[in-house]
Formats: sequence, structure tokens, C-alpha cells
Amino acid sequence: MPHLRIPNVRSPFGGSLIGKTFVTRPIFQETIELLGKHTEVRSNPDDRVLSKSELIRNLADVDGAITLVTDTVDREILESARQLKVVANFGVGFNNVDVDSASSLGIAVTNTPGVLTETTADLAWSLLMSAARRIPEADRFVRAGRFKAWGPQMLLGQDVFGKTLGLIGLGRIGQAVARRARGFDMRTLFYDPELVPESTIEALGVRRATLDEIYREADFISLHVPLLPETKHLLNDRTFALMKKTCVVVNTSRGPVVDEKALVRALKDGRIAAAGLDVFEREPQIEADFFDLDNVVLAPHIGSASTETRLRMSMMTAENLLAVLNGNRPPNLVNPDVWERRRR
Ligand code: NAP
Repeated sequence: MPHLRIPNVRSPFGGSLIGKTFVTRPIFQETIELLGKHTEVRSNPDDRVLSKSELIRNLADVDGAITLVTDTVDREILESARQLKVVANFGVGFNNVDVDSASSLGIAVTNTPGVLTETTADLAWSLLMSAARRIPEADRFVRAGRFKAWGPQMLLGQDVFGKTLGLIGLGRIGQAVARRARGFDMRTLFYDPELVPESTIEALGVRRATLDEIYREADFISLHVPLLPETKHLLNDRTFALMKKTCVVVNTSRGPVVDEKALVRALKDGRIAAAGLDVFEREPQIEADFFDLDNVVLAPHIGSASTETRLRMSMMTAENLLAVLNGNRPPNLVNPDVWERRRR
């Protein structure tokens, strides 16, 4: 039976403090202040990703850590952090944390779902519209002084209203994207292995479809799945070949869900019309070929990047972390097995 690290009762530490915490990148000052009221808090002052050895060194004596999607928290790091009780990840996706290892070591892992749903859906739509109407290309055109006169065939894009939208993943963000599609009078197809309630399907006005139906019929395909072994390279040469030549693909989920080399081929050969990407397979490295393509819109993983949402996410990480150090079940526990074992 693995050792469980989570305290059973509030355990005062250094007066009223309940432990030591480390924050891997600069986050909101309000969050540091909240953590500082209850813990001895240390934070990486530099806005850069810490190396593995730096993470190991900094987590050696702490009870809680706030990590970001840019931190790879693997088994070795978790094992070496002997006091660690909670990894509070900043983001809804937590594929950067080895959750199975955390569970086996009795470490709670938390995320920040819900608060970023609408903001990320907005970004998915921004990319969809930008790619469909060639906005970044039009912006470059104007800045280059090439706008000499209005032209009937200048920078023609595609209509969005009334078209078919294919959503892969109809969880929180997928549903928020579907809600927006109603305003564009779109026919929305979705694929999700989850048993989505009929009432939700009806309220959103969406229709369940197979993946291949989506690839064949959709004018716009937007990805809203977590990164899992079964979603890696979900879009690949085979699936791009099935899509309409006019199809626009949007990815705000995780980079490796799309085989990027296959996407480059599809965009270059005109097998699909365009793409809008917020996430990349080898982030922050960008496939060099993308820079030469006008039919791809690139964003640097800003799905949840509004001031209000990032502040909410930041505070949520601290609330989750402090709950664990106080011996309470955190609101956004990713590995509930840790908690169940603790109760036995
Ligand atoms: P969510 O509510 O968990 O929705 C994900 C949905 O995808 C769930 O319904 C899930 O079903 C479904 N799914 C799982 N495997 C699938 C598959 N093979 N094919 C189709 N659907 C599948 O999560 P969310 O809050 O919407 O977030 C979705 C993802 O977006 C996150 O995991 C994160 O990686 C990404 N994200 C990115 C940004 C950004 O900044 N670009 C911001 C926020 C989120 P089950 O429930 O059955 O697993």
C-alpha cells in the first residue's frame, strides 16, 4: 500500500502556516498573496520554463506546487519531492503531469476546469473566422501597402453562416463552441465517446455523427478533446484526405492531437483550405513550413488568455492547493482515487 501524503487534519506549520509552496512561473500577485497568508511561498521570479533539475531542486522541500502546462512533471520529479502532497496545475488540461505516478505516490493533482470554457470557445471562433475570412493575411496585405483599390476578387474567403461545423469532443468547451454556432445558423455535427444527454443535444441543436461523417461533411472542424493516447494524431494523412477541399480545421485542444507534418502536406497540396492553430505538436517549436503558408493562422497557446479568466485560473490553483494542505478535498481533484484511499 503506497504511503499517502495528504494530511488528515489541519496541521499547523510554523505558527499558522500549513506548509511550504513553490510556484514554477510568475503568476498573479493576488494568488501569491493568498498563498503567502497560509504557507511559506517561493516562486520562480523569471518568466522561463525551469529545467528538470531545477524543478527537482525547488520541489525538494515543499508540500504543494503550482505548475503550468509548460512543466513536465514526471515520476522522477514526483518521487524526489518527498514532502509533496499536491500538484495544482494551472489549466484544464493536465497531460503534462504523470497523474498515475502521482496517484501511486499519494499526491493529489488538481486542474482549473470551467472558468476558461467561454474564453477558449471565443478563441476557437476567432481562429475559425480568421482562417475563413483570411484576416491575418488581409492585415499583412494592408501593412505591406498593397491595398490600392477595392477589388471584386480581392482576398476572397468563405462564408461561415449556414455551413456545417464538426466538433470533435463535446465537453465543456465543445458545447460552448456549439452554442456560438447557433448564432451563425450552422448545422453542427459532433463526435464524443461520452454519453451526452439528449437534453443537451436538443438544447444545442447538434447531431451525433461518426468521425468519418464529420471528416466528409464538415466545412469547419474544431477539436475539443483532451490529449490521450487515443487522441494523439487523431487528424492525420488519412483524415485530411477524407475532408472537403474547402474545409477549415481549428485546433485549440493540444498540439499532438494533429499530426503536424500531415497538416502541412494537406495545406500545401490544397487538400484542405486552411487551419487555425493555438497549440502545436512540439510547442513552443513551430513547424517551419507553417511560416511559408498563408492559409494557416498561428496563435501562441492563448486559448484562455483573457485578464479575467487567467486571474480566475490563478486563484483556483491556490484554492485547490490550500484545500489539500488543510486536509480538505480540493474542488478540482483530477485523481480522486488518492482521496478515496485516504478515507479508508
Ligand atoms: P472536457 O469538458 O473534459 O471535454 C473533453 C471532451 O472530449 C469530453 O466530453 C471527453 O469525453 C471527450 N473525449 C475524450 N476522448 C475523446 C475522443 N477520443 N474523441 C472525441 N471526444 C473525446 O474538457 P474541456 O474543458 O472542454 O477542455 C478540452 C481540452 O481543451 C482540454 O483537455 C485541454 O487540453 C484543451 N484546452 C486548451 C486550451 C488552450 O489554451 N488552447 C484552453 C483550455 C482547454 P469523456 O468525458 O468521456 O472523456
